[in-house]
Amino acid sequence: KLGNETVKAELGRATWKYFHTVMARFPEKPTQDEQDALRSYIHLFARLYPCGECAEHFQGHLNKYPPQVSSRKAAAGWACFVHNEVNAMLEKPEFDCNNLGSFYDCGCAEDENEEGG
Ligand code: FAD
Repeated sequence: KLGNETVKAELGRATWKYFHTVMARFPEKPTQDEQDALRSYIHLFARLYPCGECAEHFQGHLNKYPPQVSSRKAAAGWACFVHNEVNAMLEKPEFDCNNLGSFYDCGCAEDENEEGG
C-alpha cells in the first residue's frame, strides 16, 4: 500500500489516463476474442492495481457494474461511468461523459487501419 496521498493521486491520474486511452482505442466492432480480452484485462487490472485499498473498492464497483465490452462506445462510456463512481466516493466533481470526444486521443490515429500499429 502506498502510504502517501500525493503519490496515490499521481498514480491514479496516470492510471486513469492510460485506462481511458485503452477504451478510446478499443475496436468499434470488436470480435468475441477482443471482447473477452478487454473483460479479462479489466478484471486483472482491478485485481492488480498497486493501491490495495483502491483495488478493493474498484473490484466492488466491477461486481456492481460489469465491464461493457460490446463496442468502443460501450467500453469508453462504461469506463467514464465507473471513474465517476470513484469520483463520487472521493467527493470529486462528476465528469460529463458526453464530453469524452477525443479527450483521450493516443497520438497514434495514423495507425488506425494498420495491424498491430
Ligand atoms: P482523477 O480522478 O485522477 O482524473 C484525472 C483526470 O481525468 C481529470 O482531471 C479529468 O480530466 C479526467 N476525468 C475525471 N473523471 C473522469 C471520468 N469519469 N471519465 C473520464 N475522464 C475523467 N484514490 C483514493 O484515495 N481511494 C481510492 O479508493 C481510489 N481508487 C482508485 C481506483 C482506481 C482504479 C484508480 C485508477 C484510481 C483510484 N484512486 C483512488 C485515485 C483517484 O481516483 C484519483 O486518481 C486521484 O485522487 C487524483 O484525482 P484527480 O482529482 O487528480 O483526478
